[in-house]
Amino acid sequence: MDNINNGHNGGMQEDNVIKVVGARVHNLKNIDVTIPRDQLTVITGLSGSGKSSLAFDTIYAEGQRRYIETFSAYARNFIGGLERPDVDEIQGLSPVISIEQKTVNRNPRSTVGTTTEIYDFFRLLFARAATAYSYVTGEKMVKYTDEQILQLLLKDYAGQPVYILAPVVRARKGHYRELFDTLRKKGFLNVRVDGENLPITAGMKVDRYKNHNIEVVVDKLLVQPKDDERLKKSVATAMKQGEGLLMIMDKETGAAKYYSKRLMCPTSGISYGDPAPNKFSFNSPEGACPHCKGLGYINEIDLDKVMPDRKLSIYEGAIVPLGKYKNQMIFWQIDAILQKYECQLKTPVAELPEEAINEILYGSLGNIRISKELVHTSSDYFVEFNGIIKYLHNVMENDDSASGQKWADQFLAVVKCPECKGQRLNRESLSYRIWDKNISELAQMDLSELKEWLGQVEDHMEPQQRKIAQEIVKEIRTRLDFMIDVGLEYLALDRQSATLSGGESQRIRLATQIGSQLVNVLYILDEPSIGLHQRDNAKLLKTLYRLRDLGNTLVVVEHDEETMREADHIVDIGPRAGIHGGQLVCQGTVEEICANPDSITGAYLSGRKKIEVPKTRRTSDGRWIHLKGCRMNNLDGTNFDIPLGVLTCVTGVSGSGKSTFVNGILYKILARDLNRAKVKPGSYEKIEGIENLDKVIVIDQSPIGRTDRSNPAT
Ligand SMILES: [Zn+2]
Repeated sequence: MDNINNGHNGGMQEDNVIKVVGARVHNLKNIDVTIPRDQLTVITGLSGSGKSSLAFDTIYAEGQRRYIETFSAYARNFIGGLERPDVDEIQGLSPVISIEQKTVNRNPRSTVGTTTEIYDFFRLLFARAATAYSYVTGEKMVKYTDEQILQLLLKDYAGQPVYILAPVVRARKGHYRELFDTLRKKGFLNVRVDGENLPITAGMKVDRYKNHNIEVVVDKLLVQPKDDERLKKSVATAMKQGEGLLMIMDKETGAAKYYSKRLMCPTSGISYGDPAPNKFSFNSPEGACPHCKGLGYINEIDLDKVMPDRKLSIYEGAIVPLGKYKNQMIFWQIDAILQKYECQLKTPVAELPEEAINEILYGSLGNIRISKELVHTSSDYFVEFNGIIKYLHNVMENDDSASGQKWADQFLAVVKCPECKGQRLNRESLSYRIWDKNISELAQMDLSELKEWLGQVEDHMEPQQRKIAQEIVKEIRTRLDFMIDVGLEYLALDRQSATLSGGESQRIRLATQIGSQLVNVLYILDEPSIGLHQRDNAKLLKTLYRLRDLGNTLVVVEHDEETMREADHIVDIGPRAGIHGGQLVCQGTVEEICANPDSITGAYLSGRKKIEVPKTRRTSDGRWIHLKGCRMNNLDGTNFDIPLGVLTCVTGVSGSGKSTFVNGILYKILARDLNRAKVKPGSYEKIEGIENLDKVIVIDQSPIGRTDRSNPAT
């Protein structure tokens, strides 16, 4: 091995390199490798040659171990010490960050926006610079100081008799005896209950089961400048009683208007708390839609799953959750309902009137009569019937057992939350807008559209607003640019992290790292070019340079030719895989690698060897899969024809819809129809030729487990 490692590294200064001495992890054969600092190094070689063993299991593992060593002994107790990788020495190692592909987050609350922190900047922007609108009337919300309110009253109600009221209860149930009692003790004489002026009497109360609106009558006066001291005092009292809210009622017309120190709708009187960043987070109780808890979707009972085959009768088991007829109450109830419609349990569901089906699913209005013959009692029996859907909901809510949930799950479909329309936030949070958009609409835009919007937003702000927003907008723009630079302009901030490919999440981490502006870090990347179209690869390389030029060292495990050609330094591990690999074949610049007769990589890079284009190609045997009208993500009614018996490649730039078609539609149709998998493919019109296939197997990028001591045999 000595004769292999005598090539290039004479030009490198000792103090400006990372030196790995005697690495023996996995199949590495006691090799020494030198990596220049502040440069882009590619570690290459055949699959299984030992590239990752060197990059991740030696260099990264040692970096992690040293990092943990810096913790106190107490803290290390909890983390557990890391084993030292099998290497004699690593000199010149800086803090190491690995950017791998396997960091896939399955949490539905993690999105592109939250992992890149871009959404957090938007939350800050909305808390500081958004305008609030009323979700009741759509009017702009207003807020006043005491002095402003006074001036407005003198102007709007000059010479008119008014009531000054303090709203204390808004549309809430209760008898409010204590409230009336306290008010009376404070010396108030009258209240307005549900629009009616009443004197406060001892022991007064209202119907506890009804919703009430209650206002305290603070004063009744003629608005005129000579009484402005009295007006001022009454406004202050009303503000105190109404906790910042005041209601003025015209004595003659009865028209009411609200004034508040808080954000408030001038017509309806609803008020909002002061906006804070949490209010715009779907992961916080202050921001999340209460119906879907901020997920944007809910599980709903899917009728097609409850009654998949309408040719069957209920007796034969048409209602899957009930199964076939049993001599049980629920079937007696259904029988009784059917009798009302002059049908029977043995009538196929398709022939039942719609009203009968609806009553069975959603319940009866009144009690249903079960005849004495059925239950063998002396008289007919009356019983409430809430319907199959309610029954399923009860199981879902009350049966926490795994089997109960699994049973109920099979009848559920995921649907957009009807309350927030998938926007994840509560209506108050969604009523804040900057220019023409609320925060959720911005999160739905793809990053290139979002960038365009941000470019113009400042022209649509008030000067005051612009001043506050400027710095935040700048931060967002820089981060967006990093994302666009790594070729992710087609993603939206609300895209769930769990639905990203390994390559996409790696590039997001890369963009986030650039945003963090760290220096003097050693970054180790695992095949960042994977899944990238040539066009996007050039962008990715530019990003890698940028990270390097900030003053960082990059080590990239890669086969991609373009990346190797652009690298400052190449380390070629080989010559072959497994026990025939693990040696340092050569290292140096791309020219030096090309010139090395021992390097297979060099042979291909220099053109001494190339992959021959096959002279003859297999042709299809005439069987095809035809898939028509695919609609999902950006596929818009596209047709696909795939020949069978041959190898077909689906290509296109990132975000063009390759994976949507293959994973989202084609695979799921085949898995559902051939493997009986419980999956829901994206929308399509029809598929032909499926009878030519027996089963489908997916081989994707999800790692089998690299460092987790796995090997192909496991
Ligand atoms: Zn919702």
